[in-house]
Amino acid sequence: MLNLILFGPPGAGKGTQSEKIIAKYKLIHLSTGDLLRNEIQAGSELGLKAKTLMDQGILVPDEVVIGMIDNKLKEHKDAAGFIFDGFPRTVKQSEALDQLLASYDESISVMIALVVDDNELLARLLNRGKTSGRPDDQNESLISKRIQEYNSKTKPVADYYQAQGKFVAIDGIGEIDFIFEEINQAISKVTV
Ligand code: AMP
Repeated sequence: MLNLILFGPPGAGKGTQSEKIIAKYKLIHLSTGDLLRNEIQAGSELGLKAKTLMDQGILVPDEVVIGMIDNKLKEHKDAAGFIFDGFPRTVKQSEALDQLLASYDESISVMIALVVDDNELLARLLNRGKTSGRPDDQNESLISKRIQEYNSKTKPVADYYQAQGKFVAIDGIGEIDFIFEEINQAISKVTV
């Protein structure tokens, strides 16, 4: 299996690049943000609880997203691999993911991080907010809160995979196709 984590702050381009990666490598896309928004749309109890936190730009509890990922891994046992997008976002989630994959004799192949500075992120997310309809893209203070959550809780996840020798950083500013090419090169190094 090719199991890759696409890592980076909100607005780094993870969604855009995920689509291209999935088309090329036929991976199952697991975006915890999308899964949570599906729950909200379905009006589930989990969705209602998550919405309160998401609307404030705060991370939902680890157990909630770990449970969702566990279910999805079970659902797709025959997949060619997975692309994790927006997950793991804490070291606890990373440890849980490693354990879940190990129970299938699998592991993370590589973490690819898209690097974009905070000013560019803010500009991108405010722009995305004009069309995304996402409540958490609508104002500067909420976006800043999400970037702050990323810097305090999520950044250590990069060190976690760096320690395993699985971390690759790519400049996330530039042409979409050029960035995708860099991602392909990083993937080719773990698939030979
Ligand atoms: P995203 O679509 O990845 O930007 O996620 C939107 C929001 O969903 C985040 O601001 C969090 O509130 C929540 N969320 C998504 N993924 C996670 C995760 N792995 N851990 C905790 N909260 C998450």
